[in-house]
Amino acid sequence: MSAESGNSQFVEIENDTFRNSVGTMDETGNRKWVFPRKPKGKYTNYRNYASWLMLGLFFGLPFVKINGNPFLLINLIDRKFFILGQPFYLQDFFILALGAVTSVIFVMLFTVVFGRIFCGWLCPQTLFMEMVFRKIEYWIEGDRNKQMKLDRQEWDAEKIRKRLMKWSVFLLASLLISHFMFMYIVGYQRVFEIMMAGPAEHPLSFIVMIVFTMAFYFVFAWLREQVCTLICPYGRLQGVLIDKQTINVYYDFKRGENRSKWRNNEDRKTSGKGDCIDCHQCVVVCPTGIDIRNGQQLECVNCTACIDACDEVMDKIGLPKGLIRYATEAEIENQETFRFTSRMKVTALFLVLLIGFLGFLMYDRGSMEAKFIKPAGSTYFIKDDKITNTFIYTFLNKSNEKKILTIKVMTPVNAEITYFGSEKIILKGDEILKGNINITFPEKDIKFSKQNMVIGVFDEKGEMLDSFDTTFEGPFKLML
Ligand code: SF4
Ligand code: SF4
Repeated sequence: MSAESGNSQFVEIENDTFRNSVGTMDETGNRKWVFPRKPKGKYTNYRNYASWLMLGLFFGLPFVKINGNPFLLINLIDRKFFILGQPFYLQDFFILALGAVTSVIFVMLFTVVFGRIFCGWLCPQTLFMEMVFRKIEYWIEGDRNKQMKLDRQEWDAEKIRKRLMKWSVFLLASLLISHFMFMYIVGYQRVFEIMMAGPAEHPLSFIVMIVFTMAFYFVFAWLREQVCTLICPYGRLQGVLIDKQTINVYYDFKRGENRSKWRNNEDRKTSGKGDCIDCHQCVVVCPTGIDIRNGQQLECVNCTACIDACDEVMDKIGLPKGLIRYATEAEIENQETFRFTSRMKVTALFLVLLIGFLGFLMYDRGSMEAKFIKPAGSTYFIKDDKITNTFIYTFLNKSNEKKILTIKVMTPVNAEITYFGSEKIILKGDEILKGNINITFPEKDIKFSKQNMVIGVFDEKGEMLDSFDTTFEGPFKLML
């Protein structure tokens, strides 16, 4: 290994075979199982606090309600969605789609500035893998060396006992996670109902739960870091999102190279050696099996374990911490301080505009939606110099409150409305209601075969809740 050469961007590796394959694959293409050493240190503590908060939210939010609505519910089966307690319906698809686009732009901007901080601190995959399943593994099988020893040893009583125990606890954890996932789809009451009634009464729900459980078990017991290193599309996007001004976990190669083993009482500076003592502690602690000293790699999930491992080493040998740290590539290479680049500014501006537009749409979407459609194949009819059209109305109450509605034709004036039932339409909270009305005009007022018409829907206080633009049909008139 040599230090950086000429104007090369990063450490030049004499034998950089790490670029030929992912860190978890051997030369034959077989998987190398990763046994990361248990991380400890300042960043691990912060990540523990963050993960407790995230896990608390994951297990607590299904029970949180706002104005009687679930805080978050993605019910694809009944096509009902609640986000932050706000109901969304298929009619709000545009808002949901724009919300999704805004989230993507937000994550992009976040990534351009902070790199993969999301992966290490917030991503559910890392959260469950490193903070739940990995910890169960450390608890049952011990740290890296003990796990490797257990893996090599014959299937004796100890190995069978530990593995069976680990797999059983993994299965229980997967079962718990799948139940809570299900709560985000059908609500916690429904999940409790299904659990109380048992699989015989709800065989389909039972099968879905088993499938979810097995999927989680497969991901966390076997697939593990492969999700981040091979499957996750967000990880693959890093190459285009990050640049020299992006904050990431970096190895300070200028300070670390020329790496060489530690010798007591040696003046490393005089002998031309860098601060990296090639102890591999940053490598053995890495959950994706990479060596951060090879530079930024797509496999790095910014978990900070290598920062803590290296800081501990630096502490022990009396050198300054931060050989591996959060930094930008520009800072490591040229001691440049962080600056807000044009790319960040443009993305931030676009994001602000999108959020503004989304806010306007949310404000403007109202508490109910009305539609007036003519029945298929229907046409006008004339009686006593009056023309009548029939309409089917569909009212959607987007709130929990009951509404008493009346319908009024805004333009043209002089309309008469005939209800097929009560004049006051009662719309319950969160209800979709359909019904029929006839709208009649004096024949003289209808000048065109298709006359533009606006119908308003009002609550009991006389406030217009929604309006709908449609056309009123009459006989064809030759206009001279
Ligand atoms: S932990 Fe630090 S000193 Fe040890 S190999 Fe990694 S970078 Fe070098
Ligand atoms: S290189 Fe460091 S920050 Fe990146 S995944 Fe490995 S241990 Fe975590």
